[in-house]
Amino acid sequence: MRLENKNSRIQQIHFSEIENREVSLFIKREDELHPFISGNKYRKLKYNLAEAAKQQKSTLLTFGGAYSNHIAATAAAGFSYNIKTIGIIRGDELANNLDEILQNNPTLKFASEHNMQLEFVSRSDYRNKTTPEFIAGLKEKFGDFYLVPEGGTNNFAVKGCEEILSEEDAKYDVICCSVGTGGTISGIINSLKNHQQTIGFPALKGDFLQHEINKYILKKDNWSLNSNYHFGGYAKVSEELIIFINKFKSETKIPLDPVYTGKMMFGIVDLIKRDFFKNGTKILAIHTGGLQGIEGMNLLLRKKNSLQIV
Ligand SMILES: *Cc1c(COP(=O)(O)O)cnc(C)c1O
Repeated sequence: MRLENKNSRIQQIHFSEIENREVSLFIKREDELHPFISGNKYRKLKYNLAEAAKQQKSTLLTFGGAYSNHIAATAAAGFSYNIKTIGIIRGDELANNLDEILQNNPTLKFASEHNMQLEFVSRSDYRNKTTPEFIAGLKEKFGDFYLVPEGGTNNFAVKGCEEILSEEDAKYDVICCSVGTGGTISGIINSLKNHQQTIGFPALKGDFLQHEINKYILKKDNWSLNSNYHFGGYAKVSEELIIFINKFKSETKIPLDPVYTGKMMFGIVDLIKRDFFKNGTKILAIHTGGLQGIEGMNLLLRKKNSLQIV
């Protein structure tokens, strides 16, 4: 029960909007690490799976929203490695018509097909999910389990994300990544070389991230967050963002997801256009995956008669 350490490939990006600029942009395709345990979730699960095995736990329990990449990845990991998985899903309105939900929600359908047991809880219970009382209630209901926090972030996850950058990546000056709970960027910060800087692009509103990240990192002065590209909040999208994602894919053949990597790349391209980086800067963007979320987002966009991701 072990995910191996792998190094994903890096591609240079040629994109018309930043043609003739004096910086170079590369992307590290973590999205290609595994067909279903995507991107940073592979890194975040690696040492958690090893720890669960060490503790001889046969069940993984974790938390997520109805379109969560982490839920999909955990279900896939449990399926491949023969561990039972339980997903505590935000929103008890979903439980009433499970069959219909599974037909209309590709993420939950995938999780269910990979044998994840889904448990829907109210939004208020979900907010209390880290309290000892709530967890004790889960143990009563499901028996013993290894708990992976929401988004997969804990010390084991950060350790896994320290393996995203390899020695060869020392040639890049700035590393960019998308930020949700902050686990991934924490691992990246810990593995930076002294001459490198990291910029994180939060996919959601709120100023709790600085504090979260500081819990996991050793060095404090080599990173920053740019909060200008969350597009209104978590999983919020605009037509401008969708147009960007589609244009980026048609020119580079690289798919981006609407929740994380699309917003990050929009931010990087915008900063390049504004001459934020000094001439000669080599930028490495981390493609953290999340492509499973496109189908679910497109279903929502179709319902609203909005432009979809191609
Ligand atoms: C979960 C996720 C992130 C956020 O990672 P954190 O470690 O929670 O900050 C970024 N990109 C993608 C594609 C993700 O699925």
